[in-house]
Amino acid sequence: MYRPRRRPPRAAHRPARVAGPASRAAAGVRRVSPGAVTGPCEATRPVIARIEPLTTTRRLSGPFDYLVEPGAVTVGSLVRIPFGHQKLEGVVVGLAESSEVPEEKLVAPTAVLDDSIPRDLVDLALWMAEEYCTTPARALALVAPPPGKAKYAFWAEPTPAAADPPRLTDNQRALLARLPGFAGGDLPALRRLEKRGLVTITQRVARRVPRTNPAPDREITLTPEQVAALEEIEASPGEARLLHGVTGSGKTEVYLRAAAAALERDEDVIVLVPEIALTPQTVARFAARFGDTVALLHSALSEGERYDEWRRLRTREARVAVGPRSAVFAPVARLGLVVVDEEHDASYKQESDPRYDARHVAAYRAYQAGARLLAGSATPRPETAYRLKRLRLPTRATATPGAGAAGGGAATPEEGAPGGGAPGGGAPGGGAATPGAGAPRGGGATRGEGAAGRGAAAPGAGAAGGGAAPRAGASRADARGLPPVRVLDMRGAHHALHPETRRALAATRKSIVLLNRRGWSNFLTCKSCGKAWECPNCDVALVLHRAENALQCHHCGHRERVPQRCDHCGSLSVARHGAGTERVEAELAQALDIPIFRLDADTAATKDAVPRLLARFQQAETGLLLGTQMVAKGHDFPDVTLGVVLDADATLRFPDFRAEERTFALIAQLAGRAGRGPRGGRVLVQTTTPDAPAIVAAARHDADGFLEQELERRRLHGYPPFADLIRIVTSAVDAAPARAAATEIARAIDVPGTQLLGPAPLFRLRGRERYQLVLKTTERAAAIQATGAAVEAVAREKAFRAVNLSVDVDPT
Ligand code: ADP
Ligand code: ZN
Ligand code: ZN
Repeated sequence: MYRPRRRPPRAAHRPARVAGPASRAAAGVRRVSPGAVTGPCEATRPVIARIEPLTTTRRLSGPFDYLVEPGAVTVGSLVRIPFGHQKLEGVVVGLAESSEVPEEKLVAPTAVLDDSIPRDLVDLALWMAEEYCTTPARALALVAPPPGKAKYAFWAEPTPAAADPPRLTDNQRALLARLPGFAGGDLPALRRLEKRGLVTITQRVARRVPRTNPAPDREITLTPEQVAALEEIEASPGEARLLHGVTGSGKTEVYLRAAAAALERDEDVIVLVPEIALTPQTVARFAARFGDTVALLHSALSEGERYDEWRRLRTREARVAVGPRSAVFAPVARLGLVVVDEEHDASYKQESDPRYDARHVAAYRAYQAGARLLAGSATPRPETAYRLKRLRLPTRATATPGAGAAGGGAATPEEGAPGGGAPGGGAPGGGAATPGAGAPRGGGATRGEGAAGRGAAAPGAGAAGGGAAPRAGASRADARGLPPVRVLDMRGAHHALHPETRRALAATRKSIVLLNRRGWSNFLTCKSCGKAWECPNCDVALVLHRAENALQCHHCGHRERVPQRCDHCGSLSVARHGAGTERVEAELAQALDIPIFRLDADTAATKDAVPRLLARFQQAETGLLLGTQMVAKGHDFPDVTLGVVLDADATLRFPDFRAEERTFALIAQLAGRAGRGPRGGRVLVQTTTPDAPAIVAAARHDADGFLEQELERRRLHGYPPFADLIRIVTSAVDAAPARAAATEIARAIDVPGTQLLGPAPLFRLRGRERYQLVLKTTERAAAIQATGAAVEAVAREKAFRAVNLSVDVDPT
């Protein structure tokens, strides 16, 4: 996903569509209104601005031609335009000397806004529109400035006369002493001093500053591995690298140093992190190291704060943008480095149109700017490990006594795919990215080490795979400073907790328990007639939430009261199956005398809830943090000595080619949270599939072994990185048109090197029947193009008006 394949489009994008058929052009075309931006026509000959109206409908994709004065706008200008009967905002995506539309039919924008989009972000958006089969307008909306405007306030400065003032009261003296500064509540007093010529008062942009709690920064002497990694990064301008290091190995310190080096070169930096609420420490460390040079771009900011941070980046007042996936659109001018922290994290994928992947977009931006890209993870995705040259941090930076030094070796920059290099070096067509081209490399990145002796892990070997049996309690701490992991076989168990888990939890002061399922019971059935309670809108089971006395659909949010009796047969006995976090919390509370902190989507309903809960857990003498995958994210609790994963195979049961990868990452990430302090720790993994390769590898902290076997499995089945996937979903209230639309799209797509799977029915969601079509392709660009064309054609057909179409390139 890291190698862009195509040349960035020129700003005058898709010229063939510019003027469009008469009917299409007519929507945006009217007579020039007097007093518009163009002004009087005789002055200079107006030019044509190609403008994309910022509207979300698929049907209205432009660009459309408008008349402007020369010099009034440039590519990236934001304008207000008359558009049919509406007034819309639009983005200038190109300038031209003439239009296919007669000049007297063209109109002018009514206003040019103060803010504008940097030109390279316009190019980026137009590329995204094609790459993700969406409209230019939807992609441009992602790079447009956030709503809001600058706030001005009175600013007072002492004049030279104030150096030796005549009579002043003590208050006035104190007031002068604090200047220069914003007037605030002192404005009346300052106005009096202004009259006496002692201060000047002007208006100035007043920044609305987001709250951060900078972590105390400290001097760190880099380990040899960190030094080697940084040297390699510094020596490779314009290239992408994967920093693969266990949790606590000092990756963040490497990001910080690489960022400092970029700033030193007068370059700007973008740092992408997973959800900020769950990874406050990374943000805090950047804030501590770089102060106001950091701009924060996350969703919890107020509108004013977000606007100010955007503007500070746009003006280069701030030069390090830190934020979640959307921060990839930060308006930095001289991008020199993009960091993608926790690159495996699912939050980098946007799950609504445009379904972009911030990692892929980051790679494109880096390529556009000739910038370095640094992705880091303890559990990198197989495709990233395959594509990028790897730098390793094999041991914890603050390893437990006696554990550290053993790790050996300086960072070993490993030869990855040769394409790992030189995005800046041109040859954009030469897709190092082309998955097909990868074949001769033989999975380079992960080969070579210990390939032998790991045969047991053969994919598909499943339970039979010998040697995979969990070793009875590896009691010694891992040489890399990682805690030992014990796999507990839950086949035939009748309780949510294995006796050993129960004992360990009771004996531990602070622990983290992961169960990736919220609610009380996953489903209810009638004991007499077998009825299962399902969502009326979606074909899925309803989940029991006892605290609310409700059954909930986790897909559409439908809620209903918990049934007292079966409405089918009248029976009073209803069985509750499975256990979610709510139920396990209740069971743990009964069994243990330890405060329990539950963290899942139910307890984290408000924005502040997560940081508050994590802070309370951090401060607690004893405590158990229980929750969904949220508990395995970036926090650092040094006094946690036990990590527990319940139902570790839950993620394996999803019919998804990423199931293995997710399962491995979840266990390995949780293991990374345990035993970070001097007392060390251990990890227990409960599962009914103790021999599953992902679980076995995670229990051994064997990321290399996992990547190797997973890549082999993907090669066999033609999954990324050996092919690209495109998923098309059609949906409608009735099944027939949804199926017909999918069939029609399938018929229209005929691309060499592309396998078409489906249309296959998906479960009904939000009252809509759905069909899915999956393309598996080694001809990515051609397949994307064909998909876009097929979907657009179907979208225009009257017969399919009631059908929703969604395209997901690189689904996750
Ligand atoms: P990661 O990002 O890989 O999880 P961090 O960069 O957060 O690792 O480092 C983990 C801890 O180790 C942090 O407290 C950090 O300050 C510390 N650390 C990082 N590098 C060093 C070093 N070279 N020497 C000592 N401590 C270090
Ligand atoms: Zn019944
Ligand atoms: Zn539902």
